[in-house]
Formats: sequence, structure tokens, C-alpha cells
Amino acid sequence: MKFSQLADYFERLERITSRIELSEVLAEVLKNCLPEEVDKVIYLLMGEIAPPYRGLEFGLSEKLTAEATSKAYGVKISQVNDLYKKLGDLGEVALHLNQREGKGLDVVQVYQELYQVASAKGTWEKVMRLVNLLRGLSGKESKYVVRIVIGRLRLGIGEATLIEALALAFGRRSLKELIERAYNLCSDLGLVASTLFKEGVQSLESFKIQVGYPIRPALAERVSSPSEIISRLGRCALEVKYDGFRLQIHKKGKEVEIYSRNLERMTQMFPDVVSAVLELPFEELIFEGEAIAYNESTGEFYPFQITIQRKRKYDVHKYSEEYPLKLFAFDLLYLEGEDYTVKPFVERRKRLEGVVIGNSLIEPSEMIIAEEVKQVEEFFEKAIERGLEGIMAKRLDAPYTAGSRNFNWIKLKRSYKGQLSDSLDLVIVGYFYGRGNRAKLGIGAVLAAVYDRDSDTFKTVAKVGSGFTEEEWIKLKHMLDEIKLERKHPRVESTIEPDVWTEPRYVITVLADEITISPIHTAGYALRFPRAVGFIRADKNPEDATDLSEILRLYEIQRKVTVGE
Ligand code: ATP
Repeated sequence: MKFSQLADYFERLERITSRIELSEVLAEVLKNCLPEEVDKVIYLLMGEIAPPYRGLEFGLSEKLTAEATSKAYGVKISQVNDLYKKLGDLGEVALHLNQREGKGLDVVQVYQELYQVASAKGTWEKVMRLVNLLRGLSGKESKYVVRIVIGRLRLGIGEATLIEALALAFGRRSLKELIERAYNLCSDLGLVASTLFKEGVQSLESFKIQVGYPIRPALAERVSSPSEIISRLGRCALEVKYDGFRLQIHKKGKEVEIYSRNLERMTQMFPDVVSAVLELPFEELIFEGEAIAYNESTGEFYPFQITIQRKRKYDVHKYSEEYPLKLFAFDLLYLEGEDYTVKPFVERRKRLEGVVIGNSLIEPSEMIIAEEVKQVEEFFEKAIERGLEGIMAKRLDAPYTAGSRNFNWIKLKRSYKGQLSDSLDLVIVGYFYGRGNRAKLGIGAVLAAVYDRDSDTFKTVAKVGSGFTEEEWIKLKHMLDEIKLERKHPRVESTIEPDVWTEPRYVITVLADEITISPIHTAGYALRFPRAVGFIRADKNPEDATDLSEILRLYEIQRKVTVGE
């Protein structure tokens, strides 16, 4: 495929307003790909060059990209900056300045050049490589290349849409499940697509876990009471719920990689965990656990805020001495060539205990087997007394269901008793200018949505106008203006019209007093007195936001608790 053809598709995709049309056009794009192109096209459609956990970023600021544009098209940087002020989009600036025909590069060539830009070590080399690439492109092509480099493709295409499109491209909607399964095992849709294109459907049926490819995490459902745990699971495992950092650890020989709940590569943040894992005498291993900072002298755990501070990239070593970690291993996914995700929980757990035995930093999570409500109540109360968040209950005979939230795992948190104090993670889909005091800031509230996994859309649930400081509002407006859209994004469902629509990209955490039924919000529910806590959740993708089904659960739980009082 010529890159110019992909650029035409980008243009077409930008104008689409319906979710169905979006997957149909994407299917058409994929159908036109050769087997060696499809992975690259998938990354480019998502505005990337590799799955995020590879940690490969362009590392070029807007300023440097503007500089590359000025060099490529032989104009002064001041002219680029003036045009940018006028057009508000560096991609449009490139389109405006670039009068060339283009060399007719194909998708693979452009992708490889972009890959070189990202992997180049020095800034100068990056800029010069981009200059070279831009010189070989037509106006429209350069518009999209520039947008990709600065992370503003703004198409907002998620994995679920692409999975559906892939199945459609193959003419079989039923393939969706198989594609999804493979994706859950490697978190790399490019890899799944090229496997499918090169080796056919059978290759997906036999798709296997590989060390170095993160597995999409299994997630837990909520319940409102200890008795509901027993009624759903019967005899089950109960574990302490640690409020730390979920880590998925991969070991192959002397190499260790660590991924977050959100599948970001976190290896650098945890040198102490890496050393501890290297002590484990296994060649190939994937397991999961919760890392939590603790006070060595009292044995008490620190709150999440302390553990998370490691995210600062510098001083990690110093920090790991000041706040040592414990890693509570809670699941085994792969060992010495054997896929453990398909085995029942009890078997995984037993083997896991053997794997981490005697390690200084890693220990199995605290666990008991329970069959009566009273045991669950006691375990829960004890956990709360110790200042822990709550407990997790696990179905004894269940496999590890990668990438799915179901009742194989159940979380019971302290906050559920009483009111809706569990927070929700919502995606911003637009904003309102605001009145009164806020008018001067140009933003007064954001329109926020939950994710509906079934339809791969975002459905509104609240207008959030409080919780941010004035500086945060200013920063937020700036961030949202960079991803604003002329019309509602095709994956957003809303009857409310904000002043500015945005790409569904940023996730915020929101607290509310209550969930109510709503005829206006497309989620069917609304939040009473919603307020933001913290700022943008950099660790969450839009698809990691609270799911529509969770709202439903929370609503039911709230009703039960209220009725029960
Ligand atoms: P979720 O991860 O379910 O989307 P969330 O990010 O809001 O939701 P929680 O609702 O707090 O997280 O609960 C699930 C998380 O609890 C897991 O992702 C994991 O990080 C953590 N956790 C702590 N202890 C355990 C345990 N023993 N077993 C499994 N998970 C645990």
C-alpha cells in the first residue's frame, strides 16, 4: 500500500461520525494490506510505531518538529510558528508549506523511517531523519506524519474497534473472539494481525503466550457483602487486597521485564524487584503480584501514594532503600514453557508458592480457603483492622481469564459499606466554557463518560465541574484543546452537546455521592455531585475507564446497601 493511500484513509476516517462506519472503513484499510504491511498499518492507525509497552517514543517536542518542518520545506522557523498560531495544528502547517509531489513511498518505507526517528539516540539525528522523510512526502502525507510524530493523530481508534475491523476484513465476524484471545495473550495487535495474515486462522487457534509479551490482566468484579461472595463462589480462596502497584513480571534467563496493570514497561522503576526475580531459579517465568512499600521496623504498609512515588524516573535506587518493597505474588501465568493460565486457580497457586519460596522480597499473598460466610466476614474485618483496602475472593477451579472482568475474581472493599465512596475512572469527551468566575478560564466543566466494552463506545455519565484547582483547569484546557475535534467522535454516544468536543483520550478519577437513573446521559445513569480527585490518570487508557457494566453493579450495590440499612 502506498502511504498516500493510507493518508487518504486518515482523511476519510477523520470525517466519520458513526461507530459502525468506522469499523467498516478500517476493515477496508486492512483488506488492502499485504501480510508484511498489516502490523505497521495497525500501529500507524493508532498513532504509534509499536505497542506502548515497548517504550519506543519519538521523543520530539512540538518545537523540534516545527524546526524539522522549517528545514524540510526551506522556510524560516518564524514563518512556521506564525502559521501554527493561525492554524493551531502543526500537521496543517506542514500541508500548507509542502508543495511537493512526494516520492510515492509505500507504507513500509514510511514506517521504517519513522521507526528510525524514534530509535535514533540524539535529538539532532532525530530531527534530521524527520527532515529527510518530510522531503520525500506530499503535502497530505506530511500532515499525517507530523501529527503522528507529535502524538496528535486524534483518530481515537482503540484496540476493540481494530479487532472488529480485522474480523470484518477477513469476512468473518466470528473471528473476533479468536483475535481477541490472541490479543489478550500478547497485547500486540500488530503481531496478532500479521500472524493472521501470514499464517491464517489456524495460527490464532494455536497462538501461545511468549515471555516478553505482556498478558492482559484478569480483573475483578465487585460485590456488596461477604455473603454474596459465598453465594457466587461457594468454597473459595480469600486473599488480602494490597493497595500497591500491580506488576506482571517476565523472566527469561537473565532478562527481566516488569509491566504495570496498564501494560506499561516499568522495569527501570523496580531494580530491587529485578534483583529478587533473578534469584528465582527458573529459565522462563511469568507471574503477577502487588508491590507495596512498607516500613521495615514496624512491618506496616505505606499508603499507595508512597509506593507510586517511584514513578519519578530519577533517584529510584535511593528511593528503594528508603522505602523498601514487598512483592506479594498472587498468580502464576507461565513457567518453563508451560501455559498456566489455562489451569485452575488452586493448581496455579500451589505452584506459585513453590516458585517464590525463600525469596527475600517476594512472598505469596496471604490466603485462606473459606466456605462459610462467617469466615469471609472475619477475614474481611481483620484486613480492615490492619488498615488494608479489603479482600479478594477467587474461584478455585477457574482459569486465569486474561483481559476480562468477571466473577472468577471478586473484590470486596471497605468503602462499599455505607455510600458510594468508590471512585470511578471516566473519560473526558468534551468540555463546556463555563460561566461566572470560570468564564475567564474558558473552561467550566468536562463531559465525562464510561466505557462500554460491548459496543466499544463511550457513554456519558456526568458533567464534572469541580475538584480541579484553577491551575489544573488551565492546564486541562490546554491539553484538551490539543485534542479537540470539530464534531463528536464516532465512538462517543451523547445527547448532551458540550461547547468543545474532544478525542476520548484522557481519564480522570471522579467521586460522587450517588448513582441515579438518568434519561439524559447515554450511560442510562448519572452521578450526583461528581468531583474530580487528582488530575489526569496518566496510567489509564480510555479503555481502562470504568465500564458501563461496573456502573450497573455499583448501582445495584448502592441499592442493596441502602435497602439493607
Ligand atoms: P481494576 O484493576 O479491577 O480495573 P482498579 O484499578 O480500580 O480496578 P481495584 O478496584 O482496587 O483496582 O482492584 C483490583 C486490583 O487489586 C488489582 O488490579 C490488583 O492490582 C490489586 N490487588 C491487590 N491485592 C490483590 C490480590 N491478592 N489479588 C489480585 N489483585 C490484587
